[in-house]
Amino acid sequence: MDAPNQGVTSQQIGYALFMSDDDLERAAWFRRQARAVRSELRRIPATGKNADVSVDWVGKEERFLPAEQDWRKSALAAGGDAQASLWASAERVREEVFGKRIFVRGVIEVANFCRQNCSYCGMRRENGALRRFRLAREIVRRVINESLPPSVTDLNFQAGEDPVALKELVLPVIEEIAREKRLGISVCLGTVDHRLYDELRRAGARGYIIKLETGDPEQYRLLQCPGTLEKRLEAIQYLVRTGWCVSSGLILGLPNQTLNQVIATLDLLRSLSLSGCSVSPFIPGEGTPLSSEKAADLDQTLNAVAVLRLSSPRWIVPAVSAMNLCDSSGYVRALRAGANLATINLTPSEWRGDYQLYRRKRWIMTEERVLRAIEQAGCEPSPESWVAASSSFPSLASLLPASRSLP
Ligand code: SAM
Repeated sequence: MDAPNQGVTSQQIGYALFMSDDDLERAAWFRRQARAVRSELRRIPATGKNADVSVDWVGKEERFLPAEQDWRKSALAAGGDAQASLWASAERVREEVFGKRIFVRGVIEVANFCRQNCSYCGMRRENGALRRFRLAREIVRRVINESLPPSVTDLNFQAGEDPVALKELVLPVIEEIAREKRLGISVCLGTVDHRLYDELRRAGARGYIIKLETGDPEQYRLLQCPGTLEKRLEAIQYLVRTGWCVSSGLILGLPNQTLNQVIATLDLLRSLSLSGCSVSPFIPGEGTPLSSEKAADLDQTLNAVAVLRLSSPRWIVPAVSAMNLCDSSGYVRALRAGANLATINLTPSEWRGDYQLYRRKRWIMTEERVLRAIEQAGCEPSPESWVAASSSFPSLASLLPASRSLP
């Protein structure tokens, strides 16, 4: 592909993105195989080993990609017709794999204590201006039992890195809801002891969201991201190995971030056997050392959503509310660029302002806003949970007869 500063045409993007009719036919072939293998799987007793299954799947789909990788640089910079073509390709791929369905989860932000000190995050331990909280179990129970929107199929528990909240609040609540409700359960609780990951899984959680933020070791260290990059990667690998559906991600537009760092991070993320991946626009957070830095470029962030979809078609890619902080149409545009997970915020309003990743004044995605965005993107809410869908992707390598080959 050409040097990014020469601009890109929709034809170049189309070429780089492999979207010939032949390729789409092959994608459809994979989808048919998945259905066949899924129905085979239903007859096989559960093995408990299913988190790495999407790996084989993604590996095969990636044969569609052109050998050279530079298309991602052009794609990230795309505007005008090139951007329209990029997003249209991403939408088509999402539709090939998931139909028009967007997964809908609810998030409860259960605590804002954090032992980490990430320089971009308002919940960093050195931010003394924040009123710290841990929700009472009874409050979390009430949210789940009394105000769960009908469209929600998954619950996500999110907090700063706070092992106390994990042990005393999240674990017992998950044990209860896993017994009582048919909901996919995921958590985003940071880097903790392996023993705690195991306990969460035994309690009934199936999805773990743990972002890399950046895959560049030096940038990771300078930004004081959690622990070390090596430890974060080790945690991800442990979670994948022990059967979790793992979703990771990056922050785009971090101060001084280079395009090469972004590409290297994308490469690293693709090597990790993930079920999903997110891209968040950098927002200068109040009460952080980066508060006066420039916010990320929303178009580049949304182009990155399309790149994730196109390079890993099976990934669950969320639209994130921070996109709406950049522009009020950001969320809908993320769905148009290939995202397939939306999140309804269920944190009781009294505590929302203190769960301050960026600014005290937040953009809250209510059920009404989420459903409207899904409709505006020409999609519909999925009746299936994302962790259930990710868990059911079969290991083609182990289940397809050896003679079955690519068309
Ligand atoms: N503490 C847990 C962990 O380390 O995984 C939970 C996640 S943390 C509370 C929430 C996420 O918000 C981070 O992983 C990071 O990607 C994102 N975030 C925080 N501050 C941000 C900022 N200023 N701009 C963009 N994303 C930010």
